[in-house]
Amino acid sequence: MKKLTNEVRCKFSAISENESFARSLAVTFASQASPTITQLADIKCAVSEAVTNCIVHAYGGNGGTVDMTMRRYDNGEIVVTVKDKGIGIEDVKAAREPLFTTDTTGERSGMGFSIMESMTDSLRVKSTPGKGTSVTMKIRVGVGE
Ligand code: ATP
Ligand code: MG
Repeated sequence: MKKLTNEVRCKFSAISENESFARSLAVTFASQASPTITQLADIKCAVSEAVTNCIVHAYGGNGGTVDMTMRRYDNGEIVVTVKDKGIGIEDVKAAREPLFTTDTTGERSGMGFSIMESMTDSLRVKSTPGKGTSVTMKIRVGVGE
């Protein structure tokens, strides 16, 4: 049975300057588990995509709160959950497809979930339209590589 060795939770405004704050926090947290540089870069990138989605999609740039929880287990697992109480996702399966985007400005490429998927060992997305979304990313550090 894996044991929880550390947990940090924080809530922050869903504004773009907090995207770099959130990814730095995740990198600092994950560093405790002695990851490789590649694993750290992957965590940074995945968290950045998840938080950006809260800012631009969940709340449409109108504020709101992002709730991020980071957990470390004694088996080397780092689990990061990024939650919002925004608009939610109608069809999660479709949203996770590469190049799927609801953006109409041409600024987004629909690659966020694919990036999160490829940078983590597992990605879980739970969403309820009108209520919000929760994205859970798991990375095993200190193993392989
Ligand atoms: P990119 O990430 O490449 O800039 P994108 O954000 O559109 O583009 P994804 O991150 O893969 O691509 O997300 C796909 C779609 O899922 C988004 O266009 C949006 O409709 C929906 N989505 C993702 N995250 C959320 C969220 N937290 N709340 C509401 N909708 C979301
Ligand atoms: Mg995105």
